[in-house]
Amino acid sequence: MGDLKSVDSAFETRLRALLPDQVFRPLTPTYQEEPRGLFHGEGGLVLAPSSVDEVSAIVRECAAARVPVVPFGGGTGLVGGQIMPGGAPVILSLERMTRIRAVHPSENVLVAEAGAILADVQAAAGAAGRLFPLSLASEGSCRIGGCLSTNAGGVNVLRYGSARDLCLGVEAVLPDGSVHHGLRRLRKDNTGFDLRALLCGAEGTLGVITAASLRLFPKPARQGTAFLNVRDPAAALDLLALAQDRLGQGISAFELIKGTGLDFLAAAGMGGPQPFTARPDWSVLIELGLGPGQDPEAELATLFVDAESAGLTDDGVIAQSDGQRTALWKLREEIPLANKAVGAISSHDISLPLSAIADFLHKADADLARAGTFRVNAFGHLGDGNLHYNVFPPDGQVAADFIAMRQQIRDIVYGLVQQFDGSFSAEHGIGRLKPAELRRYGDPARLAAMRKIKDALDPMEIMNPGVIFN
Ligand SMILES: Cc1cc2nc3c(=O)[nH]c(=O)nc-3n(C[C@H](O)[C@H](O)[C@H](O)COP(=O)(O)OP(=O)(O)OC[C@H]3O[C@@H](n4cnc5c(N)ncnc54)[C@H](O)[C@@H]3O)c2cc1C
Repeated sequence: MGDLKSVDSAFETRLRALLPDQVFRPLTPTYQEEPRGLFHGEGGLVLAPSSVDEVSAIVRECAAARVPVVPFGGGTGLVGGQIMPGGAPVILSLERMTRIRAVHPSENVLVAEAGAILADVQAAAGAAGRLFPLSLASEGSCRIGGCLSTNAGGVNVLRYGSARDLCLGVEAVLPDGSVHHGLRRLRKDNTGFDLRALLCGAEGTLGVITAASLRLFPKPARQGTAFLNVRDPAAALDLLALAQDRLGQGISAFELIKGTGLDFLAAAGMGGPQPFTARPDWSVLIELGLGPGQDPEAELATLFVDAESAGLTDDGVIAQSDGQRTALWKLREEIPLANKAVGAISSHDISLPLSAIADFLHKADADLARAGTFRVNAFGHLGDGNLHYNVFPPDGQVAADFIAMRQQIRDIVYGLVQQFDGSFSAEHGIGRLKPAELRRYGDPARLAAMRKIKDALDPMEIMNPGVIFN
């Protein structure tokens, strides 16, 4: 930790004099483990403040004592940003700051505290007749502050954008303990640098988000879901273009699914019944959200006929009820769980220009096959060019047997991503997992500017050390 200090009893005593007892929480495994088991915490003081003033007091003390602060939301992050191995930091959990402070349906704005669970924010918007469209498989556990700090994506980015796009303003405690009161409800505010944009995606390295004003949307009057098989990823992209030509903004999600993922689901007994007699090599899950007077099932049926005539698909299922829609989505949403059951050697959350996706997949599979025998499950948010390209051992072997090849696999995948002008981190962030990749593949001028911003805002380097900057 360099000159940084671990929490000690003198520091804790000073905090206890400043803060109520309820702020102090036991250090349970929740704060020490993350979903993929790659990082393990080794101690720390868990503090759960209930107000921005308490957050400010904590950060001020940490800056004075040079004690690291690790902001903690729902703990669902996939790059280890919420877990600091080595040393005993302050683990600052937002779990008691869960209020929906205000809903302004006529302005399409909701103001929530950072600890509000994403599903609760969606529900509060829904109760006001509005839609908060950020949607992730972890939405029952992740918190809105964590979503903004990682600039989370999910299934609706195609239509509504990622977390940063859905945020109009933030209230945040900066690394010196000062409070940025930026809970604006404005769509236009050209008054200099945009701290909101900087804090969204900063993964807790520039401060603690304590509340946010969020964009809401009209609820689609009717939704429709189809699961169509496609010849290959190139056909999936042609189908996306056809669907966008016909339905424009009506498409809220367009997900690519590889047969390997369906095999993993079947083997793990997950995802429910699969809607095909012969399991397709590739398929897409399409979600429509349409206005009043439009019929999503009819639109999807017409799309299927057009796609079939164009040779893009020859089979598929169009949900006829909410139950069937949920069942189709279950297949997509449980793929990460099935992947976990199999155990990946290396997982890659990448994005590519849409027109490069088919070539990338072809070349990456071929280059990996030259390096060894692997199974690849490539799936994800095709409409955003975001693929989860995950590499698994051959049937009958386990990932642990291939640890020595992990770096070689990453080099192959990320090298090609770079070659095709893509990103090695599409939606999960950098965290503690990918600082080396950021240094290797990042633009030098941008990295230098990021370093200067970090140094200027956090000269004591207390905010989430080891994340993004290593
Ligand atoms: C099953 C599953 C599915 C997922 N699907 C997706 C997906 O589709 N798209 C996607 O983008 N991600 C996905 N994720 C990743 C994860 O859910 C998101 O990154 C989520 O936004 C993290 O929120 P959290 O509250 O759990 O944050 P945490 O994991 O607690 O923290 C994540 C990072 O944000 C920082 N942080 C947390 N709260 C604050 C705050 N208030 N202020 C400042 N910094 C803070 C932490 O220090 C850490 O660096 C998935 C994860 C799982 C387990």
